[in-house]
Amino acid sequence: MAERKDYYRILGVDRNATQEEIKKAYRQKVKEWHPDRHRENKEQAEQKFKEIQEAYEVLSNPEKRKLYDNLGFVPDESTAYAGSGQRGSSTGDIFEDFFGNGFGMGEHISDIFDTFFGTGGGRSRSSRKNFAREKGDDIHVAVTLKLEEILYDVKKVIEYTRYEECSHCNGTGAENGNSFETCPRCNGNGVIREEQKSFFGSFVRTYTCPTCNGVGKIISRRCSYCAGSGKVTKRERIEVTIPAGVPDNYTMKVRGKGNAGKYGGPYGDLIIQVRVLPDERFIRKGSDLETEISISYLKAVLGGTIKIPTLEGYIEEKIPEGTNPGTVLRFRNIGLPELGGGKRGDLYVRINVIINKPSRKEKKNSEAITRRNTC
Ligand SMILES: [Zn+2]
Ligand SMILES: [Zn+2]
Repeated sequence: MAERKDYYRILGVDRNATQEEIKKAYRQKVKEWHPDRHRENKEQAEQKFKEIQEAYEVLSNPEKRKLYDNLGFVPDESTAYAGSGQRGSSTGDIFEDFFGNGFGMGEHISDIFDTFFGTGGGRSRSSRKNFAREKGDDIHVAVTLKLEEILYDVKKVIEYTRYEECSHCNGTGAENGNSFETCPRCNGNGVIREEQKSFFGSFVRTYTCPTCNGVGKIISRRCSYCAGSGKVTKRERIEVTIPAGVPDNYTMKVRGKGNAGKYGGPYGDLIIQVRVLPDERFIRKGSDLETEISISYLKAVLGGTIKIPTLEGYIEEKIPEGTNPGTVLRFRNIGLPELGGGKRGDLYVRINVIINKPSRKEKKNSEAITRRNTC
């Protein structure tokens, strides 16, 4: 049955102590009340020791702690301590780390724990996972180019911020990359076994340890450089060459220039989307360009020199007498290059004729011509 014990007092911590503080207090108490240090009053020490375990088991588990805070005890179903002899999955590794080296009692530690906790310990590690390495996220950036910029390969400098792997902890988030300890909740097994008693009998529920996500270890000290994230932000500046003739919405990928992965996983990529701005003078059709120019009807009738826009400035061109509206002139090899700088396309120029109100002199002359033609 659940007794009403003050777990906070047993561990000597505040009611709003952090997990870190609870863990610290627990280690302290365990050291203090280890039965091996109390040979003269062993029974009392063992009792204390059990209480400390029990308190820690509850307070280190956020769900149980919440129940305990609310109810003042933890209902049987939710604690592995319900009944007797169900202490199997406690604390072995943490103690080995702890006492094994520092106290000169390494050898018989495990015996003590066996007597304490029975042999249901289930220390098999087969189900333990490793910290899953994950590829980092890709970073997307856009580069905008004017049409005339894509005549040739163009170099662009891209500045952006990304996460780099923290070099202090090699991306692990643990101080110096090695400040791990056995997960106190699952004792390094990565799974938790809970015996549940119900009306129909008792059964064992096994599930992945939520504290360590099945890894079996947790970070004991967070990396001081990255605060445990394993990543640091860095301003990045890279130069990329965008190929001549690039189409709008073209995507380029720079491998490994995205965000750092998780637990030493590979970096993501930098994805560059190239936008080619529309040009008010030209319509782009693949590597060909289309444009329109307007000339006066007199020029259309008499012929003459016209100025044609190209991506490299204006060119002058003669048109013959009697050029009809809608005439399309083709200029070879002054369009856009094919992607990567191949052969250039053509420029098509459509001639519009503006019919404006004639001047008095033009009117007189035109009337004279018209009269002559109709006679
Ligand atoms: Zn765990
Ligand atoms: Zn770090």
